[in-house]
Amino acid sequence: MAARKREQVRGPERYWPVPAIPRHLPKHGEPGSFWEDRGDRRHCGVDLHAPPGSVVVAMEGGTVVKIGIATSPDTVPYWNLTRSVAIESGDGRTWRYGELAAALVSEGDRVAGGQVIGTVGQVLDCGKVDAGSPPYIRDLCARGAASMLHLELADRLPVDGGKYLGGNWFGKRDRTFPFRDPAPSLQDAR
Ligand SMILES: [Zn+2]
Repeated sequence: MAARKREQVRGPERYWPVPAIPRHLPKHGEPGSFWEDRGDRRHCGVDLHAPPGSVVVAMEGGTVVKIGIATSPDTVPYWNLTRSVAIESGDGRTWRYGELAAALVSEGDRVAGGQVIGTVGQVLDCGKVDAGSPPYIRDLCARGAASMLHLELADRLPVDGGKYLGGNWFGKRDRTFPFRDPAPSLQDAR
């Protein structure tokens, strides 16, 4: 009886998405945190910095609903080509793992929590970052922090266009804003 009650309070078991790095989340307002103020844009997920090639696992089980392009130099010159994997949890929420070097699952796959789904990519081409680039981008390159998992939690699959581009939101939150802070769900990941 007591065990069952505890389970209900804790909710589904979740896995820390980048096992190679310590469980550490940027605090509210810090670089890489959800809704971080980046001047003309706000951050739509959390950034977990890790070396390129680090394995990424699914935080929880679900269905792969989309493999996409996260960033491309065709859109922004200082972006490298990276991928994203979107996994629907079955409770209406979608986890989107962005800025990956490679996706190791396919659309339609059922995945289990803890299953390898991709590897961390090098999102920024720092050789193409210059004085005209956004300050937060210059700061990432200055800190040698150009590779990361960009992780989003959304009520529906975000699509580039409108106020959303490359993991950021341009403008005020409105009815079309689909994102939630992933931090509370990450805090109890094992
Ligand atoms: Zn990010």
